[in-house]
Amino acid sequence: MTPHLQKAVFLDRDGTVIRDANYLSTVEGVALLPGAGEALGALARAGFLLVLVTNQSGIGRGYFTAELVEAQHARLRELLKPFGAEFAAVEYCPHAPGAECGCRKPQPGMLLAATGRLRVAPADSFMVGDKPADVEAGRAAGCRTVFIGPACQGADCCAPDLAAAAEWILSRRAG
Ligand SMILES: [Mg+2]
Ligand SMILES: [Zn+2]
Repeated sequence: MTPHLQKAVFLDRDGTVIRDANYLSTVEGVALLPGAGEALGALARAGFLLVLVTNQSGIGRGYFTAELVEAQHARLRELLKPFGAEFAAVEYCPHAPGAECGCRKPQPGMLLAATGRLRVAPADSFMVGDKPADVEAGRAAGCRTVFIGPACQGADCCAPDLAAAAEWILSRRAG
């Protein structure tokens, strides 16, 4: 039997799902952006796996620990629960830019790891983020891309926020 492939929305964290605090180093500072919870709930109800893919070079730079980042993600999962949104996977790159790892976006390593593990079809999936590196990583993984910002930066769509991005993704699916 051929395993059924799933569709996913890969999400950048800072500036896309939560407020970008520039090397957020507390758990209490994790704050959903307006409309983000509702948007993720709608995507989940439409059958998309939600996968967080976040560069956390603050770990490699020695600004904070992996334990802190994991506590932030536990907090984020809690904040999303009331919206019916749950991450199928949370991937983070702990490396500093100089480490030349394969996971730091714009490298697609985090997306590819989750794609393999969760049996995701990239062509049915999307990457949403607020940096050109998010778009590059999404394209390199074979996904369609949504850029959160005023210009599209080579993405398939640009949107002012995650709510608008989710609306576009859901309209693509319907059409
Ligand atoms: Mg970001
Ligand atoms: Zn890395």
